[in-house]
Amino acid sequence: MKTLIRDAVIVTMNEQNDVIEKGSIVIDGNRLSYTGPSEWTSPGPFERTIEAGRMIAMPGMVNAHCHSPANLVRGMMPSKPLEIWRAYYRASLRDMREEDFYASALLGGMEMLKAGATTVLDHFAGNQACRFMGAGAAIQAMRDLGLRHVVSLTITDKNYEETVPLGETDSTLNDEIKRMSQSEAKATKAWIDECEAFIETFHAPEKLTTACPGPSAVQRCTDELLTSAAEIARKKNLPIHIHLAETKAQAVMGKQLYGTSLLQHLASLGLLRSNLSLAHSIWIDPADINLFAQSGATPVHNPASNLRIGSGLAPVRQFLSSGVNVALGTDGSASNDGQNMFDALRLAALIHNQAGTDFNEWVTPGHALGMATRNGARAFGLDVGVLAPGKLADLVLLRRDSSAFTPLNDVTSQLVFCENGSDVDTVIVNGEIVVEGGRVTKVDEREVLRLAEQARARLDPSIQRELVAARTMEPALAEMYFRVFGKR
Ligand SMILES: [Zn+2]
Repeated sequence: MKTLIRDAVIVTMNEQNDVIEKGSIVIDGNRLSYTGPSEWTSPGPFERTIEAGRMIAMPGMVNAHCHSPANLVRGMMPSKPLEIWRAYYRASLRDMREEDFYASALLGGMEMLKAGATTVLDHFAGNQACRFMGAGAAIQAMRDLGLRHVVSLTITDKNYEETVPLGETDSTLNDEIKRMSQSEAKATKAWIDECEAFIETFHAPEKLTTACPGPSAVQRCTDELLTSAAEIARKKNLPIHIHLAETKAQAVMGKQLYGTSLLQHLASLGLLRSNLSLAHSIWIDPADINLFAQSGATPVHNPASNLRIGSGLAPVRQFLSSGVNVALGTDGSASNDGQNMFDALRLAALIHNQAGTDFNEWVTPGHALGMATRNGARAFGLDVGVLAPGKLADLVLLRRDSSAFTPLNDVTSQLVFCENGSDVDTVIVNGEIVVEGGRVTKVDEREVLRLAEQARARLDPSIQRELVAARTMEPALAEMYFRVFGKR
């Protein structure tokens, strides 16, 4: 099938950030065969023509870090430091079943597509009572929506209390901390086998699925698990995704365990390659910036989540000025409360421009949009994120007869600073229209909301009970937080 998109303003997001004022795009099957001035477009024939004279075309965005099970608890988690927040968030997962993981991924995926994201990395951690923790249900949801997805299975083989600097509180470990250890960790070999079986079962790019390993965090895994996961990824030519240095407590733990930064430890194990992406990368050493630049590994910036639970800010200005490939994500809805990449874009372009810093390094709209498109694509080895011939046909058309784009002064800047996703009209993934007139085409939107409501209602007694249990962990974790920052 050949499709012509005619006369749009095209934001190509190629290396030069070229914008074509009046351009056309030809889609042949699932790839782009032409992107350029309308007058040079071949005469066809085309099976489908989209008149886009009042539209802006941009590459579909790549949401480079989220957790799909979190969509059912948006708005309900406390604004508290990650270690405390995480105890509460884990409570919401304990009783989730396959159908809940499906409903949650469907809800978040629909929100992403409608706000212009066409690829998502789901760092999936669910419930060990389900096969592959329930990741298969999330994959089914994203296939049903027509959303391209990279699902990295979260693995961890250490007891929880060995992964956080609990200090003196160690001796008074409460039952809930012990229970967290038992419910999360698994033997190294068992995780490796599960990870390989997961990839074998689900990896299918033609069905929009990339399946890959996702070690939970450096300090939460033995060296054997980290190197084995990296070996699986290398052999199968897959990405690998890990949380890195999200909080100061994690960086402190890294120094205790390894005597180096968490990233330097990964480097010593040989994991630093261009297929490695590291969510957050906030509490890193200055020397780590060069390690990123030299290896081509990607830090993933999640500004809303980092602000919501006070984790700190990644050194994005220094990353960019050192040529590091920074990608952008929403993180899960339990620490962001939504899955809108326009929200992430705007924050990324605003929060690093601080008084007294070198304004030549401030984040420009072009930087932010590059992070949200081609940089995410590069991190996961996907042929998307740029509108150019040969690329996969993942793109977004936005209405420009709207407040955000009137008058149309600088389209890149207005996409970043003015748009919130409400002008997204048409979204195409792999050559297929998955959003039309602002509505998803492959599933019934009311049914998605109904499934999510139903799942949340069923889970309520368990969530309420587990939140009470999680509360007993807070004193020990709060003590750790204040001690790490020297404020006891
Ligand atoms: Zn995360």
